[in-house]
Amino acid sequence: MFGWGLIGASTIAAEHMIGAIRAQQGHEVVAVASSSAARAKEYAAAHGIARAYDSVASLLADPGVRAVYISTTNELHRDQVLAAAAAGKHVLCEKPLALTLDDARQMVDACAAAGVVMATNHHLRNAATHRRIRQAVQDGAIGKPLFARVFHAVYLPPHLQGWRIDRPAAGGGVTLDITVHDADTLRFILGAEPVEAVALSQSASLAQQGLEDGVMAVLRFDNGVLAQLHDAFTTPFAGTGIEVHGDKGSIVGRNVMTQRPVGEVYLRDAAGERQLEVEHENLYVRGVARFCAAMRGDGVPAATADDGVRSLATALAVLEACRTGSTVRID
Ligand code: NDP
Repeated sequence: MFGWGLIGASTIAAEHMIGAIRAQQGHEVVAVASSSAARAKEYAAAHGIARAYDSVASLLADPGVRAVYISTTNELHRDQVLAAAAAGKHVLCEKPLALTLDDARQMVDACAAAGVVMATNHHLRNAATHRRIRQAVQDGAIGKPLFARVFHAVYLPPHLQGWRIDRPAAGGGVTLDITVHDADTLRFILGAEPVEAVALSQSASLAQQGLEDGVMAVLRFDNGVLAQLHDAFTTPFAGTGIEVHGDKGSIVGRNVMTQRPVGEVYLRDAAGERQLEVEHENLYVRGVARFCAAMRGDGVPAATADDGVRSLATALAVLEACRTGSTVRID
């Protein structure tokens, strides 16, 4: 049996990741660490987890833990990844990897030096819809890609309206929460790197303490594509999607910027519009499966540690563009 430890008694672990780990044959969640002993115990009992720790150090000292899934608030990821690497544990870390690029790079380097696998939990790469869109774009179905539009404006559910809307120090705000996913998705689908960002943000109703709850950005990619992003915590009925428009056709994903295996993909060109077939599967189960394969030496994770650094670079550039009102280069 391959043992996992959860660093963070979080909602995402409870709602998606514990199940995704348990869906892998021979894998089990054996421990959880929380900053509160009572919450660790309660969480372990609620989810059938054998051992509850009140510190990351105790969990990392557990020889039955061979990999960790880190889903604490964002400002904690760096030190927890560094500690996990030093303890020789493989690391699946939530996005955004960190709050600065230097921190994110330090995490990647530490895992590489320790010889452990590190991955970023960008789940959308595992969506059958996104993979179908990517394949169509890369097969030339729309000709030369020119523009992309990402619709990722949602309503932040009440049970998640904590640190995301009122704790800047924890890496709150819609840009580090959602734009970071858009950046990864566009890189994945286009096979290109963003090089410039312009953006404006909004604090309409939910966000406090100077955080933003809505953002619109435009990115330029190194293949010339311009991508427009609309991300929000405040719009219950906007619907999600992604579109890529080329000189020979357009591909449209509807209801695809989501955690659930749902949504449709359409191709429009001179022959008309038709729906492309997709075989939906659980995004998180697939992501963990790729991570497990990488730990066995078989391939790389769906979203690598380096992918996490690159998506963070774009999100930080969007934040800076909002702050300064200028065009920001993305290195
Ligand atoms: P939560 O707010 O649920 O959990 C974050 C931390 O908050 C936990 O580690 C826990 O601290 C503390 N906490 C949780 N519940 C309580 C409570 N009832 N009382 C007091 N403290 C509590 O965050 P999320 O699960 O929404 O997000 C965690 C991370 O996962 C973030 O980095 C986020 O960006 C990422 N995420 C990624 C998603 C994806 O699809 N890839 C989706 C959602 C989130 P402690 O561990 O000390 O108990």
